[in-house]
Amino acid sequence: MNLTPDEIDRHRRHILLKEIGGPGVQKLRRASVSVIGAGALGGPCALYLAAAGVGRIEIWDDDHVERSNLQRQIQFGAADTGAAKAERLAARLKEIDPALTISAIPRRFQPGDAPAGEILIDATDNFPARFALNRFAHINHRLLVSGAASGWTGQVGVFASGVHNGAPCYQCWVPEMPPAAEACDEVGVAGPVTGITGSAMALETIKLITGAGEALVGRILLIDGLAGAYRTLHLRRDPECPLCNA
Ligand SMILES: [Zn+2]
Repeated sequence: MNLTPDEIDRHRRHILLKEIGGPGVQKLRRASVSVIGAGALGGPCALYLAAAGVGRIEIWDDDHVERSNLQRQIQFGAADTGAAKAERLAARLKEIDPALTISAIPRRFQPGDAPAGEILIDATDNFPARFALNRFAHINHRLLVSGAASGWTGQVGVFASGVHNGAPCYQCWVPEMPPAAEACDEVGVAGPVTGITGSAMALETIKLITGAGEALVGRILLIDGLAGAYRTLHLRRDPECPLCNA
């Protein structure tokens, strides 16, 4: 499966990286990813994945674009107000690369749903969806790239409990749903912090697909936008975890 002249031209800056190269671009073309959430994290994440030539991308979201989203959801413009986010983002990805297979699923991810991607991107804004997605990834041996942003801070982790023996799952990091979990609607968030977080999620996904570098498996990247500081926590599998040690 050789690269076409269009692909060589399009992906030249990735081909030049020895950690990706032509074989990495071919792996990206064969990869399938489900992006759960087409908002402030899923938007930049999906844009970079499409630009990198990820062959199959599924976008899940039941929401519609509102004017108050435009402060951070840079995948949308004023004319998209009222449009279904999953469909509008899928159309935007097609504009980037018409050769990709992009599907929009205009539904909220719920327990019992089965995203098709071999890598699942948790770009949701609510804990029930995060927990359900973590459970699905663990049971079905999928990699989970998870991100969150609030206020001036963001965090990103890769959860591989269903794939690598001993790797922690999302619930090893967040054992229980916080009683009064804040969603982005209720608290402020600095727009670029969501962009940094979503871009870091895309970067981790590209690393997982191509094998470049060290993915954030068993680690959490913490982004502090106000301090201008980034740090990484190490995370172990929780022997009391209700999911991965059950
Ligand atoms: Zn766990």
